[in-house]
Amino acid sequence: MRLCIHRAASNIGGNCIELEASGESILLDLGLPLGVDRASISLLPSVPGISQGETENLLAVILSHPHQDHYGLLSCANHKLPVYLGTGAKRLLEAATFFTESAKITQQCISYDAFHSFQVGPFKITPYPVDHSAYDAYSLLIEADGKRVFYSGDFRMHGRKQGLMESMLRSPPKNIDVLLMEGTIIGREDAESNTTESELESKIVVSLNQLTGLALACFSPQNIDRLVTFYKAALRSGRILVVDAYTAHILNMLEVDSLSSILKSDRIRIFLPSRQKLQIVRAGRFDLIEPYRGKRVYESDFCEKPGRWVCLFRSSMSKDFEEMDCLRGATLIYSLWPGYLKRDEGELHKWCANNGVCIEVQHTSGHAYLADLIRFSKSISPKSLIPIHTNYPELFIKYFEDVQVVDDSTWVDI
Ligand SMILES: [Zn+2]
Repeated sequence: MRLCIHRAASNIGGNCIELEASGESILLDLGLPLGVDRASISLLPSVPGISQGETENLLAVILSHPHQDHYGLLSCANHKLPVYLGTGAKRLLEAATFFTESAKITQQCISYDAFHSFQVGPFKITPYPVDHSAYDAYSLLIEADGKRVFYSGDFRMHGRKQGLMESMLRSPPKNIDVLLMEGTIIGREDAESNTTESELESKIVVSLNQLTGLALACFSPQNIDRLVTFYKAALRSGRILVVDAYTAHILNMLEVDSLSSILKSDRIRIFLPSRQKLQIVRAGRFDLIEPYRGKRVYESDFCEKPGRWVCLFRSSMSKDFEEMDCLRGATLIYSLWPGYLKRDEGELHKWCANNGVCIEVQHTSGHAYLADLIRFSKSISPKSLIPIHTNYPELFIKYFEDVQVVDDSTWVDI
């Protein structure tokens, strides 16, 4: 078997790794590079069989998790390529598709489940569930030609699935020839941080207890762990979490009992922003909002008792809130990677300043801290560790053993 990282050997995002055995190939992830808004054919890595109409020996794309920087180029790739992804990830993307075009996968999607091995040509693939900010994320063990490659995907060890990661470290996959390990956090100032998702929940509770006005919560609803964090923090501070129709639809479609009961609880309510209202009316998809008729929150609710709510917020809702008289004394809790705040050229800061909204960052990374990366690599103890999804592959040599730094587009025999 041999492998080639087409993209993400020395940068974060746009993951694409080709594995080849017995003259046939698979791709692990096919992501959109970070900082790129739109997928385009020119961004496709040079892989025979990846483009429309080509008939080479590329068998499939195996996705580790449903983040754009891991699947976002599929829309430009050969529509005949089968795509494998976790059962939950498939449900999430299908649910999100109505509201956001970027979630749409046009290829045939075949779902896989934790620890259930499946065969694609000469490759035997075993998914290991991991803790990450994406829902239903996996590391992947790939076996072929008597060799074993373990691809970490993106992971962390301080989220709600900490226990799952600890059990992986207690009985890790053995005899790994190559570990492809992410190192998003390496070289970043928060590499040595250690805030867990449950500590974040407590910090948000402290914030909410100090606020009297409306709390706007800026996070990705596809990050279900963070959604649960806000739900629990709202509960603990005596507030009610308000989500949009998109989030309610995702919670409903995932078919997970614990999430369905959150949605049924009277401590979660639904707000329909004008943009989603228009989408629903245009498509005649009233079934997406009808089940929540009794749970709807309107302008009068926000204005009468702003301190009662923690409301999911995204920039596309800014007009809706501007038109309501409820922002006096409001605080926006920013719970995404703070780097995005700088990238939007201060737009959100400006909006907050213009509307008298305070801004407060409350976040913990979706990626493993340095100490956890070290534990992870020691536990798997591969013959060779190849850095991926990192801006600083050369720093791996300082922290880990048997590191082999490779460049994009370079073949490595295993
Ligand atoms: Zn990710």
